[in-house]
Amino acid sequence: MNTAFETSASFAQNRDAADVLNGFKSRFHFPQHEGKDTIYFCGNSLGLQARSVAGAMQQELEDWQNMAVEGYFRARNPWLYYQYNFSETLSAMMGCGEEEVTVMNTLTVNLHLILQSFYRPDKQRYRILMEAGAFPSDQYALETLVRLHGFNPDDAIIEVHPREGEKLLHTEDILAAIHQHRDSLAVVLMGGINYYTGQFYDMPVITAAAHEAGAYAGWDLAHVAGNIPLELHKWDVDFAVWCSYKYLNGGPGAAGGLYVHERFGNDPQFPRLGGWWGNDEKTRFKMEKGFIPRNGAAGWQISTAQVFNMVALKASLELFREAGTQRLREKSVQLTAYLEYLLGQTKLPFEVITPKDPQQRGAQLSLYFPQNGKAIQTRMMENGIICDYREPGVIRLAPAPLYCSYSDVFRFYEVLQTF
Ligand SMILES: *Cc1c(COP(=O)(O)O)cnc(C)c1O
Repeated sequence: MNTAFETSASFAQNRDAADVLNGFKSRFHFPQHEGKDTIYFCGNSLGLQARSVAGAMQQELEDWQNMAVEGYFRARNPWLYYQYNFSETLSAMMGCGEEEVTVMNTLTVNLHLILQSFYRPDKQRYRILMEAGAFPSDQYALETLVRLHGFNPDDAIIEVHPREGEKLLHTEDILAAIHQHRDSLAVVLMGGINYYTGQFYDMPVITAAAHEAGAYAGWDLAHVAGNIPLELHKWDVDFAVWCSYKYLNGGPGAAGGLYVHERFGNDPQFPRLGGWWGNDEKTRFKMEKGFIPRNGAAGWQISTAQVFNMVALKASLELFREAGTQRLREKSVQLTAYLEYLLGQTKLPFEVITPKDPQQRGAQLSLYFPQNGKAIQTRMMENGIICDYREPGVIRLAPAPLYCSYSDVFRFYEVLQTF
């Protein structure tokens, strides 16, 4: 707990003035409320639009207009290679080699696709372990996947639950469940951060336990990408997927990300579903028989690059690069701690569901209000503070460090004090 915090607008303003990342706020568009920028705490649902997006979009429109098919090679960002624009920034954020990441499709599609490679069950090893209360799309994906292979989800999907009366998972309970099912486990697939509680799981330890049980370890990083820097390669994670429209600000429906460890990426025999964009570029346009996958995650590409679904992501990642992922994380830890500190100064009854340990959370606090949850969220919206509400009684706040300030967090506290 940072005891250096103070409950005053001037303290928050001084913190902002001393924050080297404060200038990035002005590089985003904010929804308007009564003629003013709103305060935006919903970057964990849909990130804001960088001001550079319109120009970047215009450039692609012009190149298409002026060059048409030639744009694949001659556009200022040649479309044939558009997906490689992200390798450097994403590999730095994810802690992996540039060839271990790629950008394509959307999250759930990529999850289905990569599980074609990593979930190849037999009668003995067919179970998938996940956290109870996972994001619905992941639940549906796994339920339909095991059915497709002829298994019953009640038997084939193992959900790890919080203990009686608790909301968070204990790492030891996850490890115990993995150990218990070690003879039948094919894949451990968890959300890196639970979307509801904001709990960031111990990825290296859980990954190691999955491997010890003879299973693959895969992660859904929807709420982690652009939020917490990772070390996927070092932690020996087998595969991971994420979307680009939350903290990464890629815009609605932006192309998602995929990580595959190089031991699979560099093995052309590793099973997968292919398409021409994943084929070696040297032979792609020869239109001959015989799929030769590209090295790395790019070998899972299927279709032509979705350029217009990647323009905003490219613009946003340039801001991430400038700001520096580690510096963003440092600010994020402080900003979330300040929010937590201010919440501690109110007299309202509520519970912070998210873990108190900064190492077990990102830029999100989930607040459970036994009374008035919906009314508080409505009053925030009326005061130009955008945050979301999930039944029963939970307000989720995500002070994303690229465009949220200490003053924003203090303003939330001020409005909360009107209750
Ligand atoms: C947001 C989110 C998704 C969304 O999946 P899409 O296929 O991009 O719609 C999936 N999983 C988790 C954990 C999420 O938070």
